[in-house]
Amino acid sequence: MQPHGGGDATSHHQIEEIAVRTIELKAPLDGVTLPLEQVPDPVFAQKMVGDGLSLDPLSQVLLAPCAGTVTNVHRAGHAVTLVTPEGIELMMHIGLDTVNLQGEGFTPKVAAGAMVVLGDPLIAFDADYLATHAKSLLTQIVVTNGERVAAYHPATGLVQAGVDTVLTLDLAEGVADEAAASGKRLISEAVLIPNPTGLHARPAAVLANLAKRYQARILIQRGDDQANAKSLVAIMGLAIEQGDKVVLVAEGPDAAPALAALVPELAAGLGDEGSTPAPAPATTEVSADAAPAPRPRSDDPQLLLGVPASPGLAVGRVWRLRREEIEVQETGEPPNQERRRLEDALDLARNQLEALQAELRGQADPAKAAIFAAHQELLGDPGLLDIADSAIAKGKSAAFAWRAAFTAHAQSLARLRNQLLAERANDLRDVGRRVLAILTGTPLEEPPAPPDTILIAEDLTPSDTARLDRTRVLAFATVGGGATSHVAIIARSLDLPAVAGIEPRAMDLADGTPVILDGSKGSLRLDPDPAEIERIKTLKERLAVRRANDLAAAMDPAVTSDGQRIEVVANIGGLDDAARSLPLGGEGVGLLRSEFLYLDRTAAPTEDEQYAIYSSIAEVLDGRPMIIRTLDVGGDKPLAYLPMPREENPMLGIRGVRIGLDRPEILRTQVRAILRAGEGHRLRMMFPMIATLDEIRSVKGLVEEERARLGVGAAVELGIMVEVPAAAVLARQFAREVDFFSIGTNDLTQYTLAMDRGHPKLAAKADAMNPAVLQLIAQTVAGATAEGKWVGVCGGLASDPQAVPILVGLGVAELSVSVPSIPAVKAQVRAYSLAQCQALAAQALTQDSAAAVRALVPLDY
Ligand code: PEP
Ligand code: MG
Repeated sequence: MQPHGGGDATSHHQIEEIAVRTIELKAPLDGVTLPLEQVPDPVFAQKMVGDGLSLDPLSQVLLAPCAGTVTNVHRAGHAVTLVTPEGIELMMHIGLDTVNLQGEGFTPKVAAGAMVVLGDPLIAFDADYLATHAKSLLTQIVVTNGERVAAYHPATGLVQAGVDTVLTLDLAEGVADEAAASGKRLISEAVLIPNPTGLHARPAAVLANLAKRYQARILIQRGDDQANAKSLVAIMGLAIEQGDKVVLVAEGPDAAPALAALVPELAAGLGDEGSTPAPAPATTEVSADAAPAPRPRSDDPQLLLGVPASPGLAVGRVWRLRREEIEVQETGEPPNQERRRLEDALDLARNQLEALQAELRGQADPAKAAIFAAHQELLGDPGLLDIADSAIAKGKSAAFAWRAAFTAHAQSLARLRNQLLAERANDLRDVGRRVLAILTGTPLEEPPAPPDTILIAEDLTPSDTARLDRTRVLAFATVGGGATSHVAIIARSLDLPAVAGIEPRAMDLADGTPVILDGSKGSLRLDPDPAEIERIKTLKERLAVRRANDLAAAMDPAVTSDGQRIEVVANIGGLDDAARSLPLGGEGVGLLRSEFLYLDRTAAPTEDEQYAIYSSIAEVLDGRPMIIRTLDVGGDKPLAYLPMPREENPMLGIRGVRIGLDRPEILRTQVRAILRAGEGHRLRMMFPMIATLDEIRSVKGLVEEERARLGVGAAVELGIMVEVPAAAVLARQFAREVDFFSIGTNDLTQYTLAMDRGHPKLAAKADAMNPAVLQLIAQTVAGATAEGKWVGVCGGLASDPQAVPILVGLGVAELSVSVPSIPAVKAQVRAYSLAQCQALAAQALTQDSAAAVRALVPLDY
């Protein structure tokens, strides 16, 4: 789909006359130039990132080499990407391997989205610190979209920052013409929105982030309604539904490349292929349906119903949270003063959120930190700032103008029929209130909750939830929200039972009313029978004692009473999980879901970035083994920058290793990073979704080629996930090809029972304890053993205490489990003899249902 000109389209001939043919980049630093080929890092020397040149710096502030828009400032502060008005993407990377410094020594002077002119400071750095802590200070300037450049003319010798030309680029044919279209208003062809839940928060954020890469003013238009395509809240405010017809309108120097890039992304669903992200094992996660569900109502006056938001039982007393309105004065001082006031308050709020994130990351809680990162993004949303600005221009105070802006947007979001969008209104109110409190000097703290509180609130904001006093608040219920809200996600990460969407009469309950909240059922029982309270209290006490005992023994190995050692390792998504697993007794990593490194980004991680991450996790593990699973996306796990064709049955489509084989350059980059990190660390490489022998043979061929190219040894063992029934059935043949198997029971169950693992009605039935699945596990172990190979289990079943003795009895050697369940799984192994486990496994294989299997291993609590 090509964008076409608006009513006043310029003829091709006219464009030719004013076309820009070359771009001159000024030196971003004082220094001496060096050809890229001479940089002692293959990633740059072999121009894997792009062509350009390197500078040996003599100054300490990286300056913009030309005008452009900053599209990315690396979290570690050592690299920045700039897009010129001609659509040339420039990456500037200070030093070599400086990502490992994790921000130390760097002070970014701009943020993504900033528009800069030649000579603007981008990143200040401490050359002394880098000289002693990094491999090299050499700074690279490379074009990452080289297809837009026909030739590079680097300068040589000493250059002065902002004065001397360091690199001249001849633009590729066609690019110059596009650039000349500057100033024209372009309208794209109509696009039908394919996203099943419309442009909800995630695709809207992807669109806004993509649009922010361009200087052009970009609008998304449906009928007579339009919104700024760089504003997340404005896009969400249009409530664009599946099937809606929209066009993009762009005006400005880079309007044409903007539309050329955005239109296909929009048409392809902005990385949202129609499936909700996969929940972890169905037994532990609350499944969420994007469609608004009818509110549950109870006929029993003593029982209030809502939606399960976070599992668990709690007994306590009602305490209602009342939030005071913040008073604001309508009339302001002169607009420039009010504007300054608002800017200062926004800066302070950004700092508060930064500190909150740092604290949460310190507590190894990246999911919660990410929510506040999203709040930070809202603070810079042009849609909000435009409204506030125009109110200030009319003489209103900063507080009044800001409140008007965020409440208007929040109300329009809350009214939307799309529940996912409506729930984001709460995030907007939260961040809005934070700024308002700063502007008016109002403290945000509420009175402390009494002990044994079951908190009831109209709505809780993510900030409220993060501040909850966990020693007093046992659980909470909100009238608003749903299972997909950020509050529910936070509650689950805090292990706090919660109910969302509770019947509004909950707000009329008197403080102190005794209640039982059941987060798994989504209910609140009033004035419960004392015997019931006693039963739940005893149960909880026993569970707490058991947890404490398990934890006390967590560092001991998992050995059955007759001496069979089982390796208990962790399933992780990144460095934080690895660090958390060690004090809980983790003996290594059985599954690094490497796709987490690829999510929430606008471009794939580079080989160097991956190498740095894998190495740093391996360092933390300090000699313990780690299995890195190669990228497992597609189907249920879409990626924003890897638009995949819409598929009728994504779970049966280009998923897992099939993407790696379809787009080998992505897999090759990852394989190289793993092989390099494997030198000196105990790493294993594992491939997801293997169904045929051809697939594993192709992948092995690819690995061998990269091994030979890198000249590394065969230290990294290779394995496959057994998660497609075909791999289990042909286990013996597969075992001849690899060093180990790891069984993915989540997918193996879905494919064996033909039940979608995320389906709200089927998820509960898709129990991996089904004897059909256990039979396949038995076959897998038999095939592997016959060829002298070992088998682990990394699916959710390994974390299920009832399944542990059965898996041990079936001959599984390694259990890779969720980090919090490591102590309990180890304790469960110690509670049986191998002979008992084998007897249980033999019985389990002959049962006719998952329930019958579970009855063989009753839990004693
Ligand atoms: C599985 O399928 O069991 C598994 C561990 O992989 P994932 O849950 O990441 O698909
Ligand atoms: Mg899987």
